[in-house]
Amino acid sequence: MRGAEAAPGTLIPQEVRAVFWLKKRRRERLKGKPFPAQWLATIERNVPHYRRLPAADQEELQGLVQVFLAEKNFEGAGGLSITDEIRVTIAAQACILLLRRKTDIYPRLRSIIVYPHAYTAPMRQPLPGGAVMEGTQVRLGESWSRGAVVLSWDDVVRGAWDIDDGRNLVFHEFAHQLDDEAGPADGAPRLPHHSMYIAWARVLGGEYRNLIESIERHRPTLLHPYGATNPAEFFAVATELFFEQSHQLRARYPELYDQLRLFYQQDPALLRDDARPGPSKIDVGDGPRDGPAPGS
Ligand SMILES: [Zn+2]
Repeated sequence: MRGAEAAPGTLIPQEVRAVFWLKKRRRERLKGKPFPAQWLATIERNVPHYRRLPAADQEELQGLVQVFLAEKNFEGAGGLSITDEIRVTIAAQACILLLRRKTDIYPRLRSIIVYPHAYTAPMRQPLPGGAVMEGTQVRLGESWSRGAVVLSWDDVVRGAWDIDDGRNLVFHEFAHQLDDEAGPADGAPRLPHHSMYIAWARVLGGEYRNLIESIERHRPTLLHPYGATNPAEFFAVATELFFEQSHQLRARYPELYDQLRLFYQQDPALLRDDARPGPSKIDVGDGPRDGPAPGS
């Protein structure tokens, strides 16, 4: 009797290897392509964090951006037309989270949907006693585990522009994507070694509980209170601080900083500090930006 045949649509191991090899080869080809000068100008203008990176990281980032832009689909919403400036500005920030790591470049992500401004979305929130509150909510962005990230372009620009305020919408939403790669979003992304999960759970779990307690006692916190929503939000908020207020995070929460450093394999507190943007206002894009106002 012949061995069991693969079910229709199921790849046999040789096919899996072939698909993997083809993807790897395609990505290597994309990474090797000359990086368009226009894209580089956009990154240098819109993503000041880039200027802080060592040359090797900048080069790696350019390769990741080439792959990201070839593989992910961008869709404008609310009247926004997608331009190269929008695609490159978002891709560069998303790929900063991937530097120096073994990565499949957001494998679940298919589409990035971009609104011109904050947008409204339906909200359904269970209440104690089984009731459900339904309504709409103004949002700046969201990450779906089934392959999409939604962003407000205004807030993408604002988050990228100020590299020291600890708020970065793209870092936040793409941290959720990293979390999703390891199963249900629970604040524990796929760590480089199994041995790291115990310390990760102890440190992040402990700081998450400390944040909740601080908020309940009305104590000021470096971590944004939104991080107390659940462990997934805590990881996303901590990621924003890790890259944008690394010195403060390292001083106030050294163990948390260290766990994030081990995960991201970057040490942003050591990066050059002379990359602040100049006084000119950032160009927020060439496309029409006359979509509906938030709440309309
Ligand atoms: Zn979030």
